[in-house]
Amino acid sequence: NDAKPSHFLRQIIEHDLAHGTYAGRRWGGRPGDAACHSAGVPDPARIRTRFPPEPNGYLHVGHAKSICLNFGLARDYGGVCHLRFDDTNPEKEEREYVEAIIDAVRWLGFSWESSFGGRTESHLYYASDYFDFMYRAAEYLIEAGHAYVDEQSAEDMRINRGDFSRPGVNSPFRDRTPAENLARFRQMRDGQLPDGAAVLRAKIDMASPNINLRDPTLYRIRRATHHNTGDRWCIYPMYTYAHPIEDALEQITHSICTLEFEDQRPFYDWLLQRLIEGGLLQAPPPRQYEFARLNLTYVVTSKRKLKQLVDEGHVQGWDDPRMPTIVGLRRRGYTPQAIQRFAERIGVSKADSWIDYSVLEGCLREDLELRAHRAMAVLDPVKLVLTNWAEVFGHDDHTEICTLPALPHSPAGEGQAPPPERVFRIGKAVWIEREDFEEVPPKGYKRLYPGNVVRLKGGYVIECTGCLKDEQGRVVEVHAKVVPGTKSGTPGADSVKAKAAITWVGVHDGLPAEVRLYDRLFTDPHPDAGGKNFLQLLNPDSLKVVTAYVEPTLARAQADDKFQFERHGYFVADRIDHGQDGRLVFNRITGLKDSWGK
Ligand code: ATP
Ligand code: MG
Ligand code: MG
Repeated sequence: NDAKPSHFLRQIIEHDLAHGTYAGRRWGGRPGDAACHSAGVPDPARIRTRFPPEPNGYLHVGHAKSICLNFGLARDYGGVCHLRFDDTNPEKEEREYVEAIIDAVRWLGFSWESSFGGRTESHLYYASDYFDFMYRAAEYLIEAGHAYVDEQSAEDMRINRGDFSRPGVNSPFRDRTPAENLARFRQMRDGQLPDGAAVLRAKIDMASPNINLRDPTLYRIRRATHHNTGDRWCIYPMYTYAHPIEDALEQITHSICTLEFEDQRPFYDWLLQRLIEGGLLQAPPPRQYEFARLNLTYVVTSKRKLKQLVDEGHVQGWDDPRMPTIVGLRRRGYTPQAIQRFAERIGVSKADSWIDYSVLEGCLREDLELRAHRAMAVLDPVKLVLTNWAEVFGHDDHTEICTLPALPHSPAGEGQAPPPERVFRIGKAVWIEREDFEEVPPKGYKRLYPGNVVRLKGGYVIECTGCLKDEQGRVVEVHAKVVPGTKSGTPGADSVKAKAAITWVGVHDGLPAEVRLYDRLFTDPHPDAGGKNFLQLLNPDSLKVVTAYVEPTLARAQADDKFQFERHGYFVADRIDHGQDGRLVFNRITGLKDSWGK
């Protein structure tokens, strides 16, 4: 990991590894089994991180940062990263999201498997698997005088919690005996109290300047069917109670989360200390570290808002290529390598900041620059006719073979296979971009205008002679003469100087393709920022669909293959629609850095 930029989390981990902070643990069996603390194989002081999504929606680019960070640290330091579903909120969670999250993490290139001590283990966990343990821990806290059942109304509880300006007020239920609390808590569990009638609270300090320590709620009554435990429970643990326990049972060493949880850390530590004292958990406990979440310009990352975009039909689904979801980025053509590179590049810090969307695009270009095959595509076609074709080649139907490298930056090394080549043909008529012809050229214009000489890339030098227009004055055909003996790659290629090289596709062998030109979903760099209504900032031109002509080599494109369409940018054969009924469908991932010819 020398090449990777260091950051505060790497420094903490390196310190812990050097000092054996987590040496001497044992590991084996499922977390939550009492056995796993005492039996099993000694764990060679490895770090354990985790990525703990709640299965209540699709993951987005912010989650990708967290995935790359947690799995990346485990990979770089020979540790393990757990994939854990934090499923303590039954109403919002669904199996569909569990599957989608598993897919997303795999696709990003990470694995939750580890092998050591001669065996391979899968570290995929569900918080709901620990409900029994969490319940026992709650009873312990009650018995030890650290928790009580509160039956104040929600309103009274809110008022009595106080705020930053004033301390809270103790609940009238705060001094019940452990025996009373235990009996009442069991009634909660057994369904003898209606939803909302009571909660279990930690007994800490109602005057604490940290509001999170003013007797936080541990359990609530909620009659809801859970995707994993069904109707077994009618009480569910709160996230803030469940999360530290999940980390501890899994023997996580570094529990990395976003900054908004900083104020929760004292409770995280308090809870684990109590449970270690009670012999329910082993020392040393995991430690929580916070980093700044990813804020990306032109993007919203709130799951609620993303869901609204889908539900109200502003986009075509969670995997719409304009969505910042991982499935959306994937369909747009982003590669796992580009996203990993992005996560490395933006780094990890303790201070919130905005990352410009162009950083993500730049990572994609860097990834594809050397490996995406080149191809020519004409997105706004107008016909170019080479009027002297028959004169030069003897027949209007004559065509000539042309070749260009598929990967111009990978010359064949000694004894290596030749680099891939694209083969297509030039004939009397070709498609060119409408913007490549001007009857009256603006200043500095180097492409086609009457009298100018350009090269058809990979083909011949041609001299423009004029055009044909319809009644509205719109150009319907551009005319030029081919200059004999100037074919690219032949000795005469440079005999005539061309002012520019333009892209083209043969009319006889070009293939029609649907090309989806995606742009930013929002017109504002901070669509989510205070007070703005993100729905009013939608970019009306975020999708433009054109019928293009593409070179014949693209007949072999498979769904998800990425290309650089010369001068236009990077494109991907759509994962879903490409190839259906023989259709060619390409999505624009991003343009080239330097927009061509401008
Ligand atoms: P949302 O607020 O959109 O519902 P969430 O943060 O509640 O998302 P979780 O499923 O709880 O979603 O998140 C799983 C992990 O991903 C958490 O550890 C969280 O800190 C991390 N995460 C979520 N959003 C970001 C972000 N923008 N940048 C970095 N990490 C993030
Ligand atoms: Mg969450
Ligand atoms: Mg959140």
